[in-house]
Amino acid sequence: MTLTGELLIGAAHVPAGAGTMKALNPATREVIEPEFAFGGAADVDRAVTLADEAFDSYSHTGPAERAAFLDLIADKLEAAKGELAERASLETGLPVAQFEGETLRTADHFRKFATLVRQGRFLQATIDPAQPDRQPSPRMDHRLQKVALGPVVIFGASNFPISYSVAGGDTASALAAGCPVVLKAHNAHPGASEIQGRAIQQAVAEAGLHEGVFSLVRGVGNEIGEALVDHPLVRAVTFTGSEGGGMALYRRAQQRPDPIPVFTEMTSVNPTFVLPAALAARGAEIGGGLVQRAMYNVGQACLKPAILLAVDGPGFAELREAATSEVEKVAARTMLTPGIHDSYTRNAQRLEERGATRIGAGQEPTRAWDGQSLMYEVTGDQLLAEPDLREEVFGPAILLVRLTGLDQLLEVARAFRGQLSATLHAETPDHVATAQLLPILERRTGRIVVNAFSIPQEVSYATTHGGPFPATSDSRFTSVGMGAIERFLRPVTYQGFPDALLPEPLREANPLGLWRLVDGELTRP
Ligand code: NAP
Repeated sequence: MTLTGELLIGAAHVPAGAGTMKALNPATREVIEPEFAFGGAADVDRAVTLADEAFDSYSHTGPAERAAFLDLIADKLEAAKGELAERASLETGLPVAQFEGETLRTADHFRKFATLVRQGRFLQATIDPAQPDRQPSPRMDHRLQKVALGPVVIFGASNFPISYSVAGGDTASALAAGCPVVLKAHNAHPGASEIQGRAIQQAVAEAGLHEGVFSLVRGVGNEIGEALVDHPLVRAVTFTGSEGGGMALYRRAQQRPDPIPVFTEMTSVNPTFVLPAALAARGAEIGGGLVQRAMYNVGQACLKPAILLAVDGPGFAELREAATSEVEKVAARTMLTPGIHDSYTRNAQRLEERGATRIGAGQEPTRAWDGQSLMYEVTGDQLLAEPDLREEVFGPAILLVRLTGLDQLLEVARAFRGQLSATLHAETPDHVATAQLLPILERRTGRIVVNAFSIPQEVSYATTHGGPFPATSDSRFTSVGMGAIERFLRPVTYQGFPDALLPEPLREANPLGLWRLVDGELTRP
């Protein structure tokens, strides 16, 4: 595919209306062709208006039609795998093989949502039949299903240029729900964005859907993002990125005359607690294993296990030694953007200013935007006294915390803000302490892992990628996994309807063959 750099607004390829940019290869610092168009408020208006026009027909597509569309996107992503992986690698400095895998996982995500749509359980079809003889007053027939919210704006993330970007889980789940998508592409990987955007655009056309089902816009500065959040026809927003950016967009959406939900995924240190028996039994294994996981994607992952906590005692020295020697093996690698590299350097410096001791460093950087792996240590007292030490350093840095005892471990656990995940390593003798720790973690995190690591994460029905603020702006939802569709649905009750006027999922004969809740009982098709 020859990249044109145009915006994709419905079926149209739109040239620049507000300047252009070129992508940057962060490994070589060379600019890469071609020029990519920036759009402005008029492009946003056109894309959102088309999405709104597409909404009625798209949100009423039947399960078979919508699922076939999602499968078609998966096919097109797979067909683009080589080209997409090459371009993503060029724009991020990360390996081609990583992106080939990411493309396949992303295609699989669309296929999983196609299955979910065919099953139709997400509609939550519920029937409370009429009770004409009920005393003291009869009950009318009530039926409920979930319906799509409307046009959704999705901010592509910088750190996973496929799976959290244009064709990422946000897009897959919004399209599965029946919501047209206007995608704000991240400027860190415009070429990879265009390849994915064109795959979806072609799938829309081949599936015979309204062109407004998908658009991709790009802009400079905050103007385009603000215009998207402000647009009166937008019904929901998703965002993955910094706490500052996410909260600016969240607050903006709440100040609209008609506030809309903004699902932000922002920051998490994913604390890993090693309990005493596990520490004594396998301290070295845990220390080395954690570092290997933490360095995935040059530490630029929302699930990076960034803070490792253990009580000083048998196994602590082995854990510390294994972790630092693993860090020392890691070559410095290019970070995603100059901005992300600069804030990594600043934030690592901040750890030192707040009293953290550097106990290990990876190989020296050889290029301007290489991130050097770093390992720091603090005491439990320091971590409790200095909130900044408990905050994310986005990049390949790990903080080891030496605790005085189990009481301090529990106190430190209570001090963390909301997290996407928390991990504990525990053996049978640790089960009493684990039972004390679990309720503390449940209040603060969306996923608790035992005797494994927070990376990798499954994309499945039971996945939660969410958690209390500031991990996300709404802990009731997940942004990854099949439950992600819930963000884009709302319930509607149909009361007293004749069968012929009911939506298909709620008709008496159950023509779609759905599992339904009938008078409080889950019933087979
Ligand atoms: P970001 O600065 O938060 O930007 C994400 C997206 O939102 C970009 O498209 C950006 O547009 C837009 N945006 C941000 N603030 C906005 C505002 N006030 N108004 C309108 N649009 C706005 O995130 P990033 O560029 O990906 O990386 C910056 C930092 O975010 C990283 O150093 C890291 O600390 C954090 N981050 C964290 C995670 C995580 O999973 N924990 C993931 C990615 C990034 P522009 O690019 O045009 O400004």
